Amino acid sequence: MPPNAVVCLCGNLIGYELEKDGIAFLQIGGLVADSVHGFCAQCGRGFHHTIALQAYKRLMRRYETDDVEPLAVEIESPAEK
Ligand SMILES: [Zn+2]
Repeated sequence: MPPNAVVCLCGNLIGYELEKDGIAFLQIGGLVADSVHGFCAQCGRGFHHTIALQAYKRLMRRYETDDVEPLAVEIESPAEK
C-alpha cells in the first residue's frame, strides 16, 4: 500500500493523503477534500479529517521536538523609532 494511504484500524483503505502548501488534503476516489466526516464502510468506525485538525497537529509537533525553525516574525522595538 502506498505510504500516503489512509487506512482504517480494520484495514479498509479510506483514501490517500495529498499534501499541498503544507496542508494535508484527503483524496477519496475522484474527490480531493479539505474535510471529511463519515464512517468506515467496512467496520462502521467513525472517521474525521479536517485541514484545521492537520494544521493543529503540525503546531503540536513543535512542542514535541527541539528541531524546529523559529517563526520568521520581526518585532520592531518602540525604542528604535
Ligand atoms: Zn474500518
